[in-house]
Amino acid sequence: MGNDKISQFQVDLLDIVSDIEQQIQHLSVQDPIFGFISPKFIKCGKKNCKCHFNTKDLHGPYFYLRLEPEYKYNKYLGKEVPRIIKERVEIGSTIKNLEKKRTKIIETVSQFEDIAL
Ligand SMILES: [Zn+2]
Repeated sequence: MGNDKISQFQVDLLDIVSDIEQQIQHLSVQDPIFGFISPKFIKCGKKNCKCHFNTKDLHGPYFYLRLEPEYKYNKYLGKEVPRIIKERVEIGSTIKNLEKKRTKIIETVSQFEDIAL
């Protein structure tokens, strides 16, 4: 590729980056949750319950919200995950994916800058 073509390519990529940034902005105002939902099986308080003798008899699943950065079992959600929570977690992970894509593109653009020198 000649230098002109390379710089056109860079401009195109930077356009994509600004599209991605707009999408991120649009999603960021929709109350994203950054983390994931995870099931947990538990032992109950009754000492004679079968859950204390066999792991396959544990109770659950009960769902927890695990928030970044540590992904601890931060928040108990119940036996069923509320739809709004699912949606907000999806928005959060979409934002994360867009940010990864943006980083990759910016890296690619800077590689071409090295070649052009
Ligand atoms: Zn039990």
